Amino acid sequence: MIRIKHKRKKCIGCGYCEHSDPLMWQMDNSDGKASLIGASVANNIFYIDMPDSEQAYIDRVISVCPINIITVDKLY
Ligand code: SF4
Repeated sequence: MIRIKHKRKKCIGCGYCEHSDPLMWQMDNSDGKASLIGASVANNIFYIDMPDSEQAYIDRVISVCPINIITVDKLY
């Protein structure tokens, strides 16, 4: 299991994450930032747990974010 984390507050709204993986990322018109669909939030960090099989998709999104606010942790 992996945990995808998004420091949403720092998002600059470029939209590259949504373009790369629109099933997981969506731009929010109300504030111009990206949202990780279905995420929970703790300490201002949005997160969602996914199976290891999603790693390749996440790596692609991580690589397109210009300010490196998307990270992934290995849970177990
Ligand atoms: S790629 Fe990064 S900075 Fe750009 S909208 Fe997505 S989370 Fe925000």
